[in-house]
Amino acid sequence: MSIAGGYYKAVEAAAEHGCDCVQLFTKNNNQWRAKPMTEEDGRRFQQALRRLGIRAPLAHASYLINLATPEQTLWRKSIEAMIVELQRAEVLGIPYVVVHPGSYTTADESFGRKRIAQALDQVIQATSGLKACVALETTAGQGSNLGWRLEHLAWIRRHVQQPQRVVFCLDTCHLLAAGYPMAPQDAYEQTMRQVDRLLGRRQVKAIHLNDSKGSLGSRIDRHENIGLGHIGLEGFRLLLNDPRWQKVPMYLETPKGTDPVTGLSWDRRNLAVLRALVGKRRVPAGVRRKFFPQQ
Ligand SMILES: [Zn+2]
Repeated sequence: MSIAGGYYKAVEAAAEHGCDCVQLFTKNNNQWRAKPMTEEDGRRFQQALRRLGIRAPLAHASYLINLATPEQTLWRKSIEAMIVELQRAEVLGIPYVVVHPGSYTTADESFGRKRIAQALDQVIQATSGLKACVALETTAGQGSNLGWRLEHLAWIRRHVQQPQRVVFCLDTCHLLAAGYPMAPQDAYEQTMRQVDRLLGRRQVKAIHLNDSKGSLGSRIDRHENIGLGHIGLEGFRLLLNDPRWQKVPMYLETPKGTDPVTGLSWDRRNLAVLRALVGKRRVPAGVRRKFFPQQ
């Protein structure tokens, strides 16, 4: 949600759209600089959470950050920016900052993952004493992006000096695009067994719920509204009813705007579709009739 007008505005927007939790950029996601944050900003943000009953606030780091880059200037800048991201999250009382591990560009995979672990060591050391932690997100694997294989993420956490400050965020669109199926049940089970074995279910602190415009293994990062992409309703039904993730907050990162079928905002519509799948042993026919009349 957008922070235009104040950080607490993201909380208000989440409540308006019927969400239980909220994810935000604590600064413009395409700029290095940010206006300083005050204690008052943090108080107003926390007040809004309490007043509106929104839980599990989550920060997403700037897209400019690349902790894997071989380019020294950009690498240093990325480390500095990630430190600032954690400091800002701390002021707002946000426990995790989601970041994409990074792209090795002209270097190679092994250089990239070492570079990320080294960068994280510096970030963690410079923010020792803060509660805010780094949440590495699974990626679709576009270009030289690392983190599309679960092994990359597991390796990085194993090689930082303070792994207790590093957790994980799953993204359903990215998992599918990276080649991890989300349905049918046996394929879903296999995916989640790998997540559990390589990342550890207790280290997964957030899940991004996005359908995928790209097909299984396409390595294309394009988010789609729920049920309209290559994951489909059954994949989300399996995830939402998986006891492993009962206590893990989940966040939409789907396109904004209005759904022409229901006339609802896409956020409201996506939430309604997802909530209709909770506790169901199969996708209810009514969900298809109501939200997918053309299919
Ligand atoms: Zn995501």
